[in-house]
Amino acid sequence: MVTEDILPRIAILMAHTGGGHLSAARSLAEALETRARVTIISLVDDYVEFPWNAMSVAYGPWVNYAPWLYHLIYRAFASRKRVEFTYRAAYPLVRREVSAAFAADWPDIVVTVHPLQTQIPLRALRELGNPAPFVTVVTDPVTPPIAWFCPDMDLTVVATEPAKQTAIECGVPPDRIRVLGLPVRKAFASIWGRAKPAARSQLGLDPERPLALLTGGGAGIGKLLPLARAIARRLARATCGAQMAIIAGRNQILQKQLQSEPWPVPVKVLGFVEDMPNWLAAADLLITKAGPGTLAEATCAGIPVIITGHIPGQEDGNVTWLEQHGAGIYAREPERVGQLVSDLLRPDNPLLAHMAEQSHALAHCDAAEQIAQAVLELAGRPGRAVTSAPVRHPTKRNLTLKEWMGGLYDNR
Ligand code: UDP
Repeated sequence: MVTEDILPRIAILMAHTGGGHLSAARSLAEALETRARVTIISLVDDYVEFPWNAMSVAYGPWVNYAPWLYHLIYRAFASRKRVEFTYRAAYPLVRREVSAAFAADWPDIVVTVHPLQTQIPLRALRELGNPAPFVTVVTDPVTPPIAWFCPDMDLTVVATEPAKQTAIECGVPPDRIRVLGLPVRKAFASIWGRAKPAARSQLGLDPERPLALLTGGGAGIGKLLPLARAIARRLARATCGAQMAIIAGRNQILQKQLQSEPWPVPVKVLGFVEDMPNWLAAADLLITKAGPGTLAEATCAGIPVIITGHIPGQEDGNVTWLEQHGAGIYAREPERVGQLVSDLLRPDNPLLAHMAEQSHALAHCDAAEQIAQAVLELAGRPGRAVTSAPVRHPTKRNLTLKEWMGGLYDNR
């Protein structure tokens, strides 16, 4: 029997910016369950100090109300040099806390599923003298921001060939890149082919009414209120007799607004749900922003998608990925979305079933298992040294300008 102590210790780095990184971390932890001792760590939320630790709280409002600013930053960092410069500038400011996290939980392997926890933790780990292999699992499938890629990683896992190309352009050696898909939990893989009425009954919904499921990722992003109103108005006039469930995620203001609406059709309003597989199993159609985690889960479940928006830049490719394969339709305007939902849910419309097939054809339901195996193959193998000489930084937080500038211009 394998005892706990000889299992490799794997630290998975994620952050609560949205819900996708946590979902990816959980799906990998689930896949590794009996073969490793896994700790899920958020350096951003639980270790570093203000302003870095405000990132997760700011993410939802930022993307919701100032997507242009998000896009501007995405564009500004579309250069490897600028990304490198920023990481170098930030390193001396967060090094102590990041090192403390690794010193407390000395890992045998580190896996990051977050673009801002790549180069800095790798460098901190090596400066501590820990040679553990370091793996990046990129959770933006098609157009990932450049910040994800670090040539010193032992392995970089991407979901598609275009993402692999971006990695190569960022200097990641091709023999250290694997295209394995986006990790999702096992429960999503068993949805395809299951009877929907039973799944709806289980959730306390009317089993006979088709279900339109509306979500906005973990942070409840997107114009969910006007969208929900327009969809409900259309469904009230349609013959399909459909019902709607709206998942507001962590957006409590939105949840309250939705709960106080007088809906003309049966509507269930929820906050952050832990049983997303059950909701996808019950749904006939998903209406969502182009969040990579949600879309990957929808493809495993074989659910057609109406994409109502996307985070400019990093989610651009997700929209075309689904549209080109006939698994999704992009529509932003609430009235148009309402019309599409009522058309697709019409009992005599064959398009819904066709889109469901197309959606399922895109799925990589076993990606988490494949990534887990690739990670375990690295166990016991010494990690690659960071290609530069380690820099000596003061351990105190009150850095002098000179010391900080030293870190900034350190020529790695
Ligand atoms: N999610 C969840 N419960 C909720 C809302 C979302 O578990 O109430 C999960 C969802 O299943 C998906 C993730 O959060 O795995 C959202 O990730 P995505 O990449 O779609 O968007 P993000 O929230 O990261 O912007």
